[in-house]
Amino acid sequence: MAKIAGTFKVTKAAAPFESCVACFKGDTRTAVMLEGEAEFHIAALHHLSGIPLEQADGTVLVAAEHELGCDPGMVPAGRFQLGFRLCTDCAAKTGATIVDLKAAEKGEPVFVYQQLLEGPYSSG
Ligand SMILES: [Zn+2]
Repeated sequence: MAKIAGTFKVTKAAAPFESCVACFKGDTRTAVMLEGEAEFHIAALHHLSGIPLEQADGTVLVAAEHELGCDPGMVPAGRFQLGFRLCTDCAAKTGATIVDLKAAEKGEPVFVYQQLLEGPYSSG
């Protein structure tokens, strides 16, 4: 876990109206920042937001399509970065470390959950 500056695309389509991915509260200006392979994003989002694994899977797929330009149902190969809006209330329930999106958008270093080990299918 480290504070790094990244080029995060923060999900919009997966959670309409800038809402929290877990409770759908609108105007959520905080998010969890993730960097890793698709499987990492799904597992981390599940644990950090408290949403079911299937919902986390769908959220990551929609984000990959809309924010990263992947074909529907596809995810990028290897590591990538995404931010998922999570409100302070939901983060408090899971203990997730969230960041202020204003800081992230300005390019300031923010807390990022990083996958530590490469998966078996990583292309590097
Ligand atoms: Zn919430």
